Amino acid sequence: MQENESIIEINSVYKYFDDKIALDDVSLTIKKGEFVTILGPSGCGKTTLLRLIAGFQTVSKGEISIFGSDITHIPPYKRPVNTVFQKYALFPHLNVFDNIAFGLKLKKMPKAQIEKKVKASLKMVGMTDYEYRDVDTLSGGQQQRVAIARAIVNEPEVLLLDEPLAALDLKMRKEMQLELKTMHKSLGITFIYVTHDQEEALTLSDTIVVMSEGRIQQIGTPIDIYNEPTNSFVANFIGESNIFNGIMLDDRSVSFCGRTFDCVDEGFGQMAPVDVVIRPEDVYIFPVSEAAQLTGIVQSTLFKGVHYEMAVLSGGYEFLVQDYHSFEVGSEVGLLVKPVDIHIMKKERTCNTFEGKMIDTSKVEFLGCQFDCLPQSGVQAGDKVTVEVDFGKVILHDNAVDGTLVGEVKYILYKGDHYHLTVWSDWDEDIFVDTTDVWDDGDSVGITIPPDGIRVIK
Ligand code: ATP
Repeated sequence: MQENESIIEINSVYKYFDDKIALDDVSLTIKKGEFVTILGPSGCGKTTLLRLIAGFQTVSKGEISIFGSDITHIPPYKRPVNTVFQKYALFPHLNVFDNIAFGLKLKKMPKAQIEKKVKASLKMVGMTDYEYRDVDTLSGGQQQRVAIARAIVNEPEVLLLDEPLAALDLKMRKEMQLELKTMHKSLGITFIYVTHDQEEALTLSDTIVVMSEGRIQQIGTPIDIYNEPTNSFVANFIGESNIFNGIMLDDRSVSFCGRTFDCVDEGFGQMAPVDVVIRPEDVYIFPVSEAAQLTGIVQSTLFKGVHYEMAVLSGGYEFLVQDYHSFEVGSEVGLLVKPVDIHIMKKERTCNTFEGKMIDTSKVEFLGCQFDCLPQSGVQAGDKVTVEVDFGKVILHDNAVDGTLVGEVKYILYKGDHYHLTVWSDWDEDIFVDTTDVWDDGDSVGITIPPDGIRVIK
């Protein structure tokens, strides 16, 4: 097999737990020798994907092949992969040597060969001379190295790493990141790494796979993903961003934050609603002058080691700005963004859309509940309808009992003058909400929708 040839093909894979979907049409090609990171927030399906590759779980639909042969139904121990888990899962009653040698002894490998292999893998993880130590006398970082040594001693073609550094402190994590990268180079095998830490993903990977809600959002190099995120989710998840609602007026012309800007994007059509993404380091800040596209007042200034991070309020919109110079809180400043630094993204949706059923002419059922709506003509009880609800029309309550239905805030996007929330309803459907109220990830909420917020479409 040549370098750059694919080693793993994941083809339209679905995974359901009962009727809950954890992976939704996931396709991915992994090349031999590549360092691929699967990145996404908690619950997005990263671990499930890794477990399907390892064979600890079976796919509901789709197929996975390694070296061109379908392994969808091959048991884990027959796959050329080994997994390193977040919890090191070492045997506490065995010393370092016996932990690493465990699998080889099961395979009845000759003693001398086992010794040679264990020593070589200990050397690889920088733990030479530790073979006779009890594992519980080792630090977290050392235990994780032993766990890696135990995986690579089997000489797998693919090493699967499930948040292997998550239990380590920041300093140790940084050290181990560098070591993992060196190890990957010298072993020359494929690493598939799962993390929710975007910085870790940017540091380590050849390729990053960004996931959200069981779906792949983007696959690319760290530079591609950072510079050209495909949607506002990726932009927000990878690094800090200013994200605003905008209207693409025409090719290369976009309106947001109350004014029109030149940009370089084309092909969105006229008057198309879009998300506008601007990285904080791409906003120029200076004393007010004619060059300013916007003026604003500095709300806060934070020193971040190399640069300053400032929040600037301009016409009701908050801009996050990074610069080597600081501007005092309260001072008036000018802001400028170059056309090339204004990233335009197609909006995934412009309102909530649900399937519903008319109960009578002013009552409609959707999301498992009955809602009053404005009196509808031309419909009758039992008619199937589509219900649209604008994001700003959904009302959230502190007390779950105050809502028609209950939900949990699971994703928050700040859009300069309001928050765009994804709320997971107890009917197992997402509801998208625009609000100026401050909510936290994981907040339990009651949800109501007033009659005038419900658009019934026959
Ligand atoms: P985390 O970083 O928190 O581990 P993740 O991105 O790895 O999250 P998964 O562990 O793959 O996410 O889970 C994806 C979804 O599938 C979640 O909603 C989770 O609750 C669900 N899930 C995972 N394993 C099971 C299971 N064995 N039974 C039922 N649901 C499961």
